[in-house]
Amino acid sequence: MSITWLAGFFVVLVCVSLVFVDGLRSWTARTTQLHEMDIATSNMARAIAQQADDTIKEADTVLVGLVERIQTDGVNPAALGRLHALLAVRVAALPQLNGIFLYDENGRWLTNSRASPVSDLNNSDRDYFIYHRTHGEPRPYIGLPIRSRSTGEWIITLSRRINHADGSFAGVALATINISYFNKFYESFDIGRHGAITLALDGAVMLTRRPLLKDSIGKNISNYPLWRYVVDAQGGAGTVILKSALDGVKRLYSFRRLDRYPLFVSVALSQDEILADWRADTYLHSAGVLILLIVLVLLGFYLIRQIKVREEAEAEIVRARDALELLNHALQRQTLQDELTGLSNRRHFDIALEKEFSRATRNVSSLALIMIDVDCFKQYNDLYGHVAGDECLRRISAIIRSGQRRPGDVAARYGGEELSVLLPGTDMDGALLIAENIRLSIASLAIAHAGSPLGIVTISAGIDVLIPVRHKNNALQLLQAADKALYAAKTGGRNRVCCSVPP
Ligand code: GH3
Ligand code: MG
Ligand code: MG
Repeated sequence: MSITWLAGFFVVLVCVSLVFVDGLRSWTARTTQLHEMDIATSNMARAIAQQADDTIKEADTVLVGLVERIQTDGVNPAALGRLHALLAVRVAALPQLNGIFLYDENGRWLTNSRASPVSDLNNSDRDYFIYHRTHGEPRPYIGLPIRSRSTGEWIITLSRRINHADGSFAGVALATINISYFNKFYESFDIGRHGAITLALDGAVMLTRRPLLKDSIGKNISNYPLWRYVVDAQGGAGTVILKSALDGVKRLYSFRRLDRYPLFVSVALSQDEILADWRADTYLHSAGVLILLIVLVLLGFYLIRQIKVREEAEAEIVRARDALELLNHALQRQTLQDELTGLSNRRHFDIALEKEFSRATRNVSSLALIMIDVDCFKQYNDLYGHVAGDECLRRISAIIRSGQRRPGDVAARYGGEELSVLLPGTDMDGALLIAENIRLSIASLAIAHAGSPLGIVTISAGIDVLIPVRHKNNALQLLQAADKALYAAKTGGRNRVCCSVPP
């Protein structure tokens, strides 16, 4: 995989990780916020349930005392007179109480907490009166919310049955509780703009609500989704997120049944409001992450472009280097090679001779030199032309080059049609063998030469071999001795190899 791909992958990985980690952080913060609100609304529901329970209990305690007193003292005018005073005191002491009323078994008013207790009103049609008349158990009864006949206010009725000595129905003791008392308490809670607090009967009838709507009091709520949760709730309490059937607002509901009375309360906070802080925080974070992402992506692009530019520059350098190497090779070839024959040129030969001479001196090893000259070549040129002469020289050179065995051997064009072969580590026998091979191979080419005694192109060669001794021998001696041997070969009749000393 290329480095640009790796860099791109790295940038993408960092971006994705950043988004993932921030998303996770945000989701966790949301869950925490909802959980904290869950606890807060549960606590609020507990406090509200406790207040309702205590409010009703206080009124109920008064009723229990009254019933006991009537059942003991009876309802003669003197007893009723005393009771009237007591009721007024009780109502004054308990702010939640609207009034206390006593009815006989026919629903007629016996006495009450008001200033003018006597009235010819009859309450035998009220639900609480019917309930107690038909139910013998000494249990308090909480009625449906009603408007007071005497004050016009919305009230909750709490009643207890009064018995005769024989246990038969003797009437009802009734305490009316102001619904506004609850609402006043509910006003003290911070539930946001879309929150709600509800107090309802177990029979799915709403007693009151904050905010109080026109039809809140006495409303049947059995079709509210929350009601199902209240019915199913284990332990009388629970929390649930629901969309309101009334206004479509999603709320977190916490509900709780009262410990002593068949009522329940619910507190609801708008989810939007609960998550407002979280949302603001998330927007802020997201904006930060977005800026970071943009910077990262831009930097990433810049980085990748820089890497590409560098890669291209490096490739260009490699190309230039290769071209330069090729050029160097060509130049080297040109400076060391003879163009016509492809053999080493005179310059290379001179350098090689000096080098091999020194090496042979150091190693005390033999160094052989064959000097070759084409026979009657002047005539060849005269007969066949200079171009044919060049071609003939090329063919002869190819034979000599193919006869090179060792890497250290150097075959060169010494000058004109004179060729030389330098053979390090070769003795006279070896050199003679090589020279003879060359001579025979060239003869076997059978290049026609009318001016030569044999009718073909031949060569003559002279050999010298030396184990050089420092300060005694030099390269020139080797050259001169080989040249001398060549001269001997020429004067000896040509087409032959002569040695400076007999092998
Ligand atoms: P010998 O047998 O004594 O060597 O007789 P020769 O004619 O070969 O005499 P010599 O070696 O003196 O001749 C040199 C001639 O080689 C001169 C020139 O015409 C020819 N010659 C030298 N260099 C070149 C070359 O590069 N190309 C061609 N075509 N001829 C060359
Ligand atoms: Mg010559
Ligand atoms: Mg010659």
